[in-house]
Amino acid sequence: MPAELTVVPNRSLEFWFPDGDVILSCPQPDGRPFVYRVHRFILSQHSMPFAEMFKTESLAPRQTLEGLPVLPLPEPATEIYKLLCCLYNALNRAAFHDLERPITRYDWLLRISIQYKIGPLRESIISQLKTEWPIALAGWDAREAHIGVLRRQHAAAGGRVHNMWLDDRLSEPVLTIHTARSIGLLQLLPAAFYDLTRRDPRADWNALHTVATRLLPENERLLAQGVRSARWSALSAQDLLVLAGLKETLSMLVRDMWDCKRMAQMAHPACELRRNEILDRAKEMAIVTRDPLHAAQVARQYTTNAGMCKPCEAEVVKCFLTFRVCCWQTLVKKFLKQGCIN
Ligand SMILES: [Zn+2]
Repeated sequence: MPAELTVVPNRSLEFWFPDGDVILSCPQPDGRPFVYRVHRFILSQHSMPFAEMFKTESLAPRQTLEGLPVLPLPEPATEIYKLLCCLYNALNRAAFHDLERPITRYDWLLRISIQYKIGPLRESIISQLKTEWPIALAGWDAREAHIGVLRRQHAAAGGRVHNMWLDDRLSEPVLTIHTARSIGLLQLLPAAFYDLTRRDPRADWNALHTVATRLLPENERLLAQGVRSARWSALSAQDLLVLAGLKETLSMLVRDMWDCKRMAQMAHPACELRRNEILDRAKEMAIVTRDPLHAAQVARQYTTNAGMCKPCEAEVVKCFLTFRVCCWQTLVKKFLKQGCIN
């Protein structure tokens, strides 16, 4: 006979159904269990592993609570709470995902959905991750345009919107790199690593987003300016090397493609002078922003009506377009050709 639970657990108010037929027990930091009284059929319906656990022969509990079997789970109560929110709310994404925050933050929910084989939830999170970290240049440009809109919103509001800084609302690349590796979703890596090459190594996510340090004046000033931080301390030595290599590749591309172009003679000396000015400005912007894709985009727009004749203008516009495509392809090949960068 299983023994009745002797420790008085903390009960969930929301997920304590009088007709529930199983107790889920989760650990809490203070050592006391936290319990949910839920329905086996709801959990089984969405998750094979739960269905397996609830089979009469598997559910031979060592403990009971109010006569019901207690199923101990290793996940923290807060994570199981979110999982139950999803399962009891017809997998409505808004039930677990604050739409103002990036899906990358929900790496633990993705882990649970994979572990408990909850297909629709897993697919929903993965699909959103692919939008946040696109594999195509067009997707990247759409993402950047969206971030540009948010950035202007935050600047106009003096830093905070919905009580969040810009950095709170956008995805963080190091966590994404970990997630991508852990579930084998390598197509997130090109965008995540490119994004990381743009981040300031002095802006550490942990310093800016932990309660103890977030309110320090220097951190608040950075956040108000719209700084984009990264979990630098969580980046492995090997990934740091990958990052350094990628930065080198990007500067070489700028040097090769823009400096070569600068050497080439144009049909009209006046157009050549304008072209060289544009290339110099683009290069300077690529260095300042650490973002050659963005610099090429701005320079391309600037080239139009910069005072060159139409054929020369078209040639320079093409140079920037080709650079962007080549740059993105190099990035994608770096991570996907090798299959895995371990
Ligand atoms: Zn010309």
